[in-house]
Amino acid sequence: LEPLEVPLCTASLLHGGGPTLWCEYGRVKILVTGAAGFLGSHLCDRLLAEGHEVTGIDNFLTGHARNLETALQDPAFSFVEHDVMAPFDGLHDQIYHLASPASPPLYQLDPIRTAKINFLGTLNALELARRTGARMLLASTSETYGDPEIHPQPETYNGNVNHTGPRACYDEGKRIAETLTFDFNRHHGVDVRVVRIFNTYGPRMNAEDGRVISSFISQALCGQDITVFGTGMQTRSFCYYDDLVDGLCRMMNTKETLGPVNLGNPEEITVLELARTIIDMTASLSGIASAALPQDDPKQRRPDITRARMLLGWEPTVPLRTGLARTIDHHVRLAGQNRQAAGHG
Ligand code: NAD
Ligand code: UDP
Repeated sequence: LEPLEVPLCTASLLHGGGPTLWCEYGRVKILVTGAAGFLGSHLCDRLLAEGHEVTGIDNFLTGHARNLETALQDPAFSFVEHDVMAPFDGLHDQIYHLASPASPPLYQLDPIRTAKINFLGTLNALELARRTGARMLLASTSETYGDPEIHPQPETYNGNVNHTGPRACYDEGKRIAETLTFDFNRHHGVDVRVVRIFNTYGPRMNAEDGRVISSFISQALCGQDITVFGTGMQTRSFCYYDDLVDGLCRMMNTKETLGPVNLGNPEEITVLELARTIIDMTASLSGIASAALPQDDPKQRRPDITRARMLLGWEPTVPLRTGLARTIDHHVRLAGQNRQAAGHG
């Protein structure tokens, strides 16, 4: 199988209603690991909408079959239940490697498994790319910067990870995944891409997985107090999933760089301000409750996206309040469906 050469930003041309350049290359065969997760499932939907043949792999560790409802209606989609810690096969032109728990409480539940998933899962994805000539994109993370001393964070910053702390299973797991990815490129000529994703949110985020936006929305909608960890003065920068998925597609199809490239929305907000915004937008009667700050919780985080702008022509387009409104709508609809399913109409 010859490695595929697709022009820069093809996906964005498609998205923006421009010429369908993919057609020049025929249907592209794509593997998505972590397909039943929040981002993986949206990525599958987007790739299927563009006319590609998509195979999803997942073991439902943190993902859910309901996220694949749309994809499974498309005959161009197939799904394999599989743990990426064991080798996998198949002829694909492109591999998006997303399989990994992503929520801090969940990835800390079994930290040794988290480290193994990121090392072995990435190794297996890279071995497959080496055997078949596929291009492999690694979904890395802003957590590789740890608790950053440089703000905003550019890709040249090597980070400040406490490698013996409770978050290290994920942070160092992703760092070794990046190392493997660049070594497979240098030593085996594998065609790779690496993106570092900053906090991303939107519909299909697991409301129970403990990540801040879904937790705050769930609490606000139930009228429970919003649990702000620490003083709430720590900052994050939240990107809407649609923008992020667009960035993943652009990165996969660029010829200009292997990465790493930061993908995130530079609109920065404190966690306390986020809690107040969500209370306001849901017209909730919830108060704010303080809880202990988890160890090694980064104090500030905002992506420097100069590279993404220059190399991918990528820019987030959905402001926080717009994305939050859509996410709140989704939570309200889901709660309604759950009530109906439980017979409380
Ligand atoms: P998610 O938990 O919703 O999705 C991850 C998916 O991977 C789940 O469906 C899970 O079941 C699957 N998975 C986990 N271990 C697996 C294994 N051993 N074998 C097969 N499948 C497995 O999380 P997400 O937010 O969609 O994150 C997707 C990717 O993006 C992850 O690699 C994550 O590290 C990265 N990322 C996400 C964010 C974010 O804010 N959402 C930020 C930085 C990086
Ligand atoms: N957070 C919080 N209350 C919660 C969940 C999270 O105050 O119920 C804080 C958390 O301490 C962190 C920020 O929100 O400072 C983002 O947390 P999340 O787990 O979503 O992502 P990450 O820490 O990986 O950026």
